[in-house]
Amino acid sequence: MSASGPTERSILVSVPNAPGIENRLKPLGLDVLAAWKDRVYIVAGDADLRSLENAALSFRPELGRTLSPGSVAAASGGLNGAYHTYKELEADLLALQQKYPAIAKVFVLGESLEGRRIYALKISDNVEREEAQAQVLILGCHHAREWISVEVPFLWGKYLAENYATNPEVKRLVDRSEVWIVPLVNPDGLEYTIHAYRYWRKNRRDNGGGQFGVDLNRNYEYKWGLDAVGSSADPSSAIYRGAAPFSEPETRAVRDLFLKKDFRALVSYHSFSQVILYPWSYTDLPSDRDAELRDIAVEMSDRIKAVNGRLYKPGQSGKDLYLSNGDTTDWTFGLSGIPSYTIELPPIDELLGGFFNREEDIAPIFQENLPALIYLLDRTVQNYRPSLQNPFDLRDFLFRSRRTGAILN
Ligand SMILES: [Zn+2]
Repeated sequence: MSASGPTERSILVSVPNAPGIENRLKPLGLDVLAAWKDRVYIVAGDADLRSLENAALSFRPELGRTLSPGSVAAASGGLNGAYHTYKELEADLLALQQKYPAIAKVFVLGESLEGRRIYALKISDNVEREEAQAQVLILGCHHAREWISVEVPFLWGKYLAENYATNPEVKRLVDRSEVWIVPLVNPDGLEYTIHAYRYWRKNRRDNGGGQFGVDLNRNYEYKWGLDAVGSSADPSSAIYRGAAPFSEPETRAVRDLFLKKDFRALVSYHSFSQVILYPWSYTDLPSDRDAELRDIAVEMSDRIKAVNGRLYKPGQSGKDLYLSNGDTTDWTFGLSGIPSYTIELPPIDELLGGFFNREEDIAPIFQENLPALIYLLDRTVQNYRPSLQNPFDLRDFLFRSRRTGAILN
């Protein structure tokens, strides 16, 4: 926690990595990220910057536009520039629906703790109807500070809607699939990062005792709370898993959609690291479908790299990133066995910006991810066979059968 507390805007700054710098920084109580080469990097609010000045430590902002209150007032796209606020996203989703009513429809999946709507955008031909077609689910912004993870899913929906009439490949895919996009799973957290504290990660659950927030990507049911490495029982922790699986309305909104549909592939966007991760997350041991999950990840990675030359390294989440339990993709894969990916968007590390992508990066990051999304959708369409029964109907059926003793003994 930075010395200025969580109520101010923060920016990334650096100071020279001079001998004795640690001892000079320590009494200031700063949020020091890393020392690297000749600089030490710090997340600093206004009070922290004043502390640095008072200590005669010269600092420089590291990433694009600073977010001091003075500079944001003049910025064109509102407080967070070209990135979406909750209200801007709502308006843009409804505008897409209005402009392309035949193929774009907005749904409200539920409400956040603070009463904001959790929106889904469905893109499909005959969008009003549920058809036996390949269903794909794209999620964004479980974690509040990962602003770019709102933009890529939104732009994917916009791309499909805008190009349907003119691009035969887009038309073919949209006609044969049902793409569901939830760009903002955590609207309360996002608003908090815009108006209060840029570095916030969790939702805004009041845990009591002055502690806030549940890590929504540790709140899913599969292997929830398995150990204290992959999630935390401490409400003050950044990876606090919540009081119970699906204790949060935001994860319940995703759960309820997932259980109602028959999704065959999923991508949940996060930032940062530039990696494409597949289950399992809860263990470093591979799943029994490891080769298949890896092949798809490699295909996506190759297509991304072909655009701007950036490598999104494919790997198993629990082995190649870090252990986590209760995450989205373990739940969707554990429940239904569908290819499920966490894509950590650029940059590759904290020193290249971490969570603070520039506004100018939004378009190129979407463009490089586009061929991977097209590939995954196309693959899902190619492999699609309608279920004889939706797996969840089947589960109900078996459950009922068991209760009546009709089939199973
Ligand atoms: Zn994240």
